[in-house]
Amino acid sequence: MGGLFGVVSTGDVVMDVYFGTDYHSHLGASKGGMAFWTQEGFCRSIHNIENVQFRARFEADLEGLKSNIGIGSISDTDPQPLTVRSQLGNYALGTVGRINNACQLADKAFKNPNVHLLEINKNRINQTELISVIIDCEDTFKDGLLAVQEKVEGSCSVLLMTPQGLYAGRDKFGRTPLKVGKKEEDDEKGKLKSSYCVTSESCTLTNLGYQMIYELGPGEIVYLSTDGLEKVSPPRKDMRMCAFLWVYYGYPASTYEGTNVEMMRYNCGAAMARRDKIEVDSVAGVPDSGLAHAIGYSNESKIPYCRPFVKYTPTWARSFTPQNQEVRSLVARMKLMPIPELIMGKRLLFCDDSIVRGTQMRETANLLYRCYAKEVHVRPACPPLLFRCPYLNFTITRSEMELAARRAIFDLEGGKMPDNIDSYCDPENEKYMAMVDYLGESMGFSSLVYQNIHDMVDAIGIGAEKLCTYCWNGKG
Ligand code: SF4
Repeated sequence: MGGLFGVVSTGDVVMDVYFGTDYHSHLGASKGGMAFWTQEGFCRSIHNIENVQFRARFEADLEGLKSNIGIGSISDTDPQPLTVRSQLGNYALGTVGRINNACQLADKAFKNPNVHLLEINKNRINQTELISVIIDCEDTFKDGLLAVQEKVEGSCSVLLMTPQGLYAGRDKFGRTPLKVGKKEEDDEKGKLKSSYCVTSESCTLTNLGYQMIYELGPGEIVYLSTDGLEKVSPPRKDMRMCAFLWVYYGYPASTYEGTNVEMMRYNCGAAMARRDKIEVDSVAGVPDSGLAHAIGYSNESKIPYCRPFVKYTPTWARSFTPQNQEVRSLVARMKLMPIPELIMGKRLLFCDDSIVRGTQMRETANLLYRCYAKEVHVRPACPPLLFRCPYLNFTITRSEMELAARRAIFDLEGGKMPDNIDSYCDPENEKYMAMVDYLGESMGFSSLVYQNIHDMVDAIGIGAEKLCTYCWNGKG
C-alpha cells in the first residue's frame, strides 16, 4: 500500500519528517524514502526496508542535515520520493495508489518524442515517475494534479514538495486518507517556530506535537507553506474510502473520517459477538490486528479475553513479508509463541482481521490442537475475501484464485469458476453458507463464522455509500 508524510516549517523539519515517515512503516514493507530541500538543493535518500526498520536504515542519512521542508514515503512497490527538475521547476514527489492504465498513459505521453521514463525496473513503470510526467505536461502544479485525477484509472494520492511549499492531493475517490496538522513551539533560540504537516496516518500527529486541523476530502488539493493552508481545489462529492484500512491496514491510533481504527475494531468484534451463540472458555485475537476485534467480542459477550499466543517481538519487530509462500508461512509460525497453559483442554474462539489464503489460520489451528485445545472456533472480522484489490498496490501480489474463498467456490462448483459469484457474496444465500462450511471444515476449525458485511460497514459508521467494499462484494 504505502504512506506519505511531509512538513514545511519556519524552523528545521528533519527529525519530524524522519519520525513521521517512520510512523507509516506498517503501510508498506518494500521501500522507504525522504527528500529535503536544503541550501544545496535536493537531498534525497531511498532505501530497501524489506527486513530492516526504517529508522535504522535512515539514521546515518540525517548527519548534519538541516531543512525547512521535507517529505517522506513508505512504499510497497516503487522507490520514491522522486526528485524532479522540469518546466514547472524543482519538486519532489511521493504517491500512494495503483495505476491500472500505466502502459496506456505512458504510450500517450510518448507521443511527445521528448518524453521518456528513466526508472523502469523489471519491465515495470515506476508509477511515481509516470505521475510526474502527467504533471509536467500541464502549465501549473494545480493543473498537473487535476490531470492526475482525470487520467489515472485505479487510485492516486499525491504529495508534491516544491522549495517553498507542499501540495497534497487526495485520491479522487478518497480511497486513501490525507490529513493536515499544525504546531507552534519555541525553537532552541526561543523564537516561535510554526510548522504544518501532511500525513496519511493521523497517529503520527500527537507524538510529534501536531494538532489535526484539516482532513482532505476526496480529490481535494491543498497547498501548505509557512503562511498556512491554502485550498487549491475543492473536494469532490463521491467518496469510496478503503474499508480495509479500519479492519486491517490502518494503525490503531489513527482516525479516518471521524472513526478511530481501534474503536471500529471493538465495534466490529462486538457485532460478531451479538450474532454468535457459541459457548467457549475464552476469546483471543491473532496478533496484531485481530486483538482489538477480540477485545470487542469479549467485552460484548462477557467471555474472558486471553492471549494463548504471544508475538516474539525482540527480533520480529517489523512485519517481514517474504514473497515466497513457504518462507512466509515459516516466518508467521516462528513469530507466534503458544502458551500451553491457556490452551490445553480449552474451548477457544479466535478473532482475526481476515482470512486471505487460509494457510496461516490453518497452521494456527493445527498448532492449537497440538497444544491440546479442545475446540478452535474462528471469527474473521470481515466477510470472505473474493476479489483482488484493483485500487492499491501491495507487496505481495496474489491472483484471485489464491484467495481461500475463491478456491472453495472452485471446488464446490466441480472445478470451475462461475461467471457470476454474487450468490457467494450474500450471507443469506445457501451458496454462501455452503462455501463457509466448506472452508471451516477444510481448515479444521470447530466452527467458522465470518463478519456480516452490513455489521462491518456499521462498525465503520460513515455510511456504505462512502466506502469501498470491493474486496468482499466486487462493489468499489
Ligand atoms: S478493494 Fe479492498 S483493499 Fe482495495 S480499496 Fe477497496 S476495500 Fe480497500
